[in-house]
Amino acid sequence: MKQALLGFVLLLPIFARPLQTSTPEGTFPGRATVEYTFGQRMRFVLEGEGFPSISEAILYYTMPGMETPYRVRRTPEASDGLRVIYERDLRREPLPPFVPITFWWEVREDPGGWRSTEPQTFRYLDNRVAWQTLSAGPLRLHWHAGDPGLARSVLELARRSLERIGGPLGYSAPEPIDLFWYADPELARAAFRLAGLEIEGEVRPRWRAVILMASPDGAGLEALRRAIPHELTHVVLHDLAGGQPLPAWLDEGWAVWSEGPPDPTLLRALQEPRLEGVSLIGLCGDFPTDPLRARQAYALAGATVRYLHDREGIGGLRRLLEAYAQGLSCESGVRRVLGRSLERLEREVEAALRPQPPGCAVLEGLGPWLLLFLLMSLGPFSLLLGGRSSSAR
Ligand SMILES: [Zn+2]
Repeated sequence: MKQALLGFVLLLPIFARPLQTSTPEGTFPGRATVEYTFGQRMRFVLEGEGFPSISEAILYYTMPGMETPYRVRRTPEASDGLRVIYERDLRREPLPPFVPITFWWEVREDPGGWRSTEPQTFRYLDNRVAWQTLSAGPLRLHWHAGDPGLARSVLELARRSLERIGGPLGYSAPEPIDLFWYADPELARAAFRLAGLEIEGEVRPRWRAVILMASPDGAGLEALRRAIPHELTHVVLHDLAGGQPLPAWLDEGWAVWSEGPPDPTLLRALQEPRLEGVSLIGLCGDFPTDPLRARQAYALAGATVRYLHDREGIGGLRRLLEAYAQGLSCESGVRRVLGRSLERLEREVEAALRPQPPGCAVLEGLGPWLLLFLLMSLGPFSLLLGGRSSSAR
């Protein structure tokens, strides 16, 4: 694939105002820009047009989840003392693809005090790919292969999924959600491998980025029918929980349940004996990484959310979500909302999953009639028994 052109920068709404690390006296009147070649280098440039002279400058840049921003001190390079550059070598110090980066400079005048630039946020796109964009409401679909008709179908699928998942929860997206659809999974994997990450289609709710991998044809569209609602569920739950971490079984289980009818491969995994570590308690934290365990874990989590929805309705699931949004632990959330332990919940789910013996369902349906029939047939017997006992006396 042809290497990237410089400078394709997608500016985003500011996610969070960075902490002011000093007390700047006013805004710096110059220009702060950034450009990058994906996986190679990123260059931040500060130019002080109309400014007397820069004595020194400090670049701050940060990503969601970072406690303190990167901080780099620089002095002007150009002979006029008005241009400051910082370059990060992305081969030695990679950044995760699609991460939103917020940056700003603090500048010391010569002579004088400090001034700062306005914070700017951009997304570190895999710009080896020529993305095209389609939008619908808060959703932005970025695609690069296939045709516009297919891309519109995918966007419509995403729009309907978001409506179906978020509607019953009264959800409306507080910020846009970007979906990046790779037509070639190997292209996506290679992008993430540069940053030492392995992915199989995923979501970064905090980054509001969904990474999709599917071929640009009917088969790909079929795969996306599950992948899109799954990944969008993670974004919706993240927003509704206010960013509080959720138990993995609830987060993944809800995502699996949102996919629609149970996936036959997951149903089969549930019929096999439980593998070590696959229990609701075991799935409070991270999900297993090995494929066999992972499949059974997704299956158990999905079956649990389905069971809860059948028993408690969407209101029950919502109450559980609210409990976790308040910071309750995995176990105490279930105890408070459902009045039982995680272990008991799991036993109930297992019991509901157990195949009913043949004829059992028929008997259940016939219940009242069967009882009546039995009573009627016992009638003569009970008279007979009564007769016997009286004659024995
Ligand atoms: Zn998931």
